[in-house]
Amino acid sequence: MKLARFSHQGSTTWGFVEAASVLPVPADAPDLVGALTDGLLAELRARTGSPLSLSAVHLLAPIARPGQVICVGLNYFAHARESGLQVPAEPLLFMKSPGSITGPHEAIVLPAASTQVDWEAELAVVIGTATGPVDEAAALQHVGGYLVANDVSARDLQSADGQWVRAKSYRTFCPLGPWLTTADEIGDGSGRRITLAVNGVRKQDSNTSDLVADVARIVSYVSRVTDLEPGDVLLTGTPSGTGIGQQPPEFLADGDRVEVEIEGLGRLSNPVVNAEKGSSS
Ligand code: MG
Repeated sequence: MKLARFSHQGSTTWGFVEAASVLPVPADAPDLVGALTDGLLAELRARTGSPLSLSAVHLLAPIARPGQVICVGLNYFAHARESGLQVPAEPLLFMKSPGSITGPHEAIVLPAASTQVDWEAELAVVIGTATGPVDEAAALQHVGGYLVANDVSARDLQSADGQWVRAKSYRTFCPLGPWLTTADEIGDGSGRRITLAVNGVRKQDSNTSDLVADVARIVSYVSRVTDLEPGDVLLTGTPSGTGIGQQPPEFLADGDRVEVEIEGLGRLSNPVVNAEKGSSS
C-alpha cells in the first residue's frame, strides 16, 4: 500500500494512493504512523471516502516530526571513493534534525551560511513497531515502510564543523515522500534503481543493492545503540554522483530543481531557492 499525507481544502489528513488518486481515510482514523503500527490499514482501506485526484491535493511529508532521523554515512562504495574516504568497518551514524523534514514538492532553501549545498539521493526506512536491541534476522519485522529522501548537505559547513549536525539539519534539508510504501510491497528495499537529476541532468544512478550495510543490518545496528519507535526515520546513505564528487564540484543554486526517484517508491521534485526568497532562512 502507498500512504500519503496531504492537505486539501484547508484540512490535513492522509489516505491510500491508487493510480492517480488518493482515497482519504475516515475522520475517526488514527494518524498514518498509528494506523501502520496498529495494523489498521486493511480496515481503513475498506472505509475510505471518495477518491481525490493526486493533482488536486497538496502532498506533505508522510512522516512530519519523527522522534529521530538517524542516518548512515558512506554506505555505498563508490560514494566513499568520491568523498576520498574509506567505507567504515561499522555503519557510520549521524543525526539530522527532524525539523529539517519538508514535503515532496516544497522548496529546498539555501541558507546564507553556506555556498556549497549538495544533494544526496537516499532510500529512507520508517520504523513500524518499536524495538530495543534486535538481531539482523528479526530486524525487518520492525520496518513499516519506505520513502524516497534527499539528505541535503552543506559541504562547507560539514567540513568546517568536523561533525555533521549543522550541515545536515537546516530547515528544508530533508525532503521526504512522495508517499510511504509499506514494507510488504518492498521487502528489504534492495534491488531498486535510485536516481537523482538536477535540472533534468542525471547526476546519480545506482541501485539499492549496492548498499554496504543493508536495511536489516542498519536497523539491527542502530537498535543496539538506541530504542527505535514507530515513525522513526533511518536514511541509508547515498550512492556516487553527489555535487562534491563532480569534476569540477557542483552545488545547488537558486532556481534549480532536484528530482530523486527510487523504483517503485516514487519521485521527489523540489525547487531550490535562496533564503531571502524562501519561507525559512
Ligand atoms: Mg547521506
